Amino acid sequence: MTFPKGLRQSVRLNNGLAMPWLGLGVYQSGGDAAETASIVTCAIRNGYRSVDTAALYGNEIGVGNAVRTCGVPREEIFVTTKVWNSDIRSERVEAAFDDCMSRLGLEYVDLILLHWPIEGKIASSWKALENVYREGRTKAIGVSNYLKHHLEELLDSAEVVPAINQIEYHPYLQSPDLKTYCETKGIQVEAWSPFMHGGEILSDAILAEIGATHGKTAAQVILRWILQSGVVTIPKSAREERIIENAEIFDFELNPEEMERIRSLDRNARWGPDPASFSF
Ligand code: NDP
Repeated sequence: MTFPKGLRQSVRLNNGLAMPWLGLGVYQSGGDAAETASIVTCAIRNGYRSVDTAALYGNEIGVGNAVRTCGVPREEIFVTTKVWNSDIRSERVEAAFDDCMSRLGLEYVDLILLHWPIEGKIASSWKALENVYREGRTKAIGVSNYLKHHLEELLDSAEVVPAINQIEYHPYLQSPDLKTYCETKGIQVEAWSPFMHGGEILSDAILAEIGATHGKTAAQVILRWILQSGVVTIPKSAREERIIENAEIFDFELNPEEMERIRSLDRNARWGPDPASFSF
């Protein structure tokens, strides 16, 4: 079996760690551990080398099973998980990390993220994650859903700069100021919900038109635009044909005019919660 070579292309994070540009998201993937494991195994069989889970998703056991049994050496797969908000609020980030590790059944993860910025806990939760990092059981640490002011507060007392800020990002929500801020601080932006969770963006006429000139779908144009914008991404699919489709984005290039047309689609539209006002 041959895979799109691009699935092995990676970006160097600010600590030198290589992270694949494209990975598999597994939010709501699999009704039980066996089903999740089979979806992740399918992606790995099709060349994926990065998987994004979280304590919240309730499927770390399935992800860990797939990583351990898929036949690909552990060091070739990039595993991300996240500490959930209740653990951040109750200041048990380090214990929550241990819980993630025992569910995953792995010796280490590649990346652990604080899932949402919790007011009053920004500095303390980051300090706890720095402790986890120093113990060596994660190769990188980062955050998710942090706005500029959250990052400023974190960086005020941080000893380690976050490697990643994982945010909702797609043509309808481009957050240019936040993206530029992350870039100036050496924080790699990672796009969650590139398809707005399977929403209307997938039937956008301009994306379809651009896709047609390349023999690609709107979904593939979105992913290609994200990568060409210098952003890592983790589309979710539980279907093999789409897992394959979403990886077939390394054999075409959007020209500057197409990049600009997609840039002009920004309408500051989220499908997910706003980090400035979420209530969970
Ligand atoms: P996505 O934007 O990746 O969209 C997934 C949806 O699109 C599913 O319904 C899927 O259906 C469908 N889909 C996938 N590929 C295609 C395709 N080629 N054509 C048409 N439809 C397609 O949604 P997610 O919200 O899952 O985001 C991706 C990942 O980001 C998550 O799985 C998670 O890992 C991460 N995430 C992180 C968050 C955070 O707070 N840090 C928040 C939300 C997500 P099907 O499965 O049937 O193919």
